Amino acid sequence: MAKTITLLCPNLVCRAILTVPDKVRGKKIRCGKCGTNFVVPGASPVKASASDATSAQPVSPNANQHSTG
Ligand SMILES: [Zn+2]
Repeated sequence: MAKTITLLCPNLVCRAILTVPDKVRGKKIRCGKCGTNFVVPGASPVKASASDATSAQPVSPNANQHSTG
């Protein structure tokens, strides 16, 4: 079963409802009514906000023992 998406023609004087296959996302198609070429917008990417807090170990300064005498 092929998935389809419904688009609205970007041509303001056409505004035709176009049903196109889902695989044309990101590709340029042509409106069959007015002949306007336009790019089908792709699916909105879903970003997972995962903030990974890394515990940084405190760096101890190397204490140089300088003995005089
Ligand atoms: Zn059109």
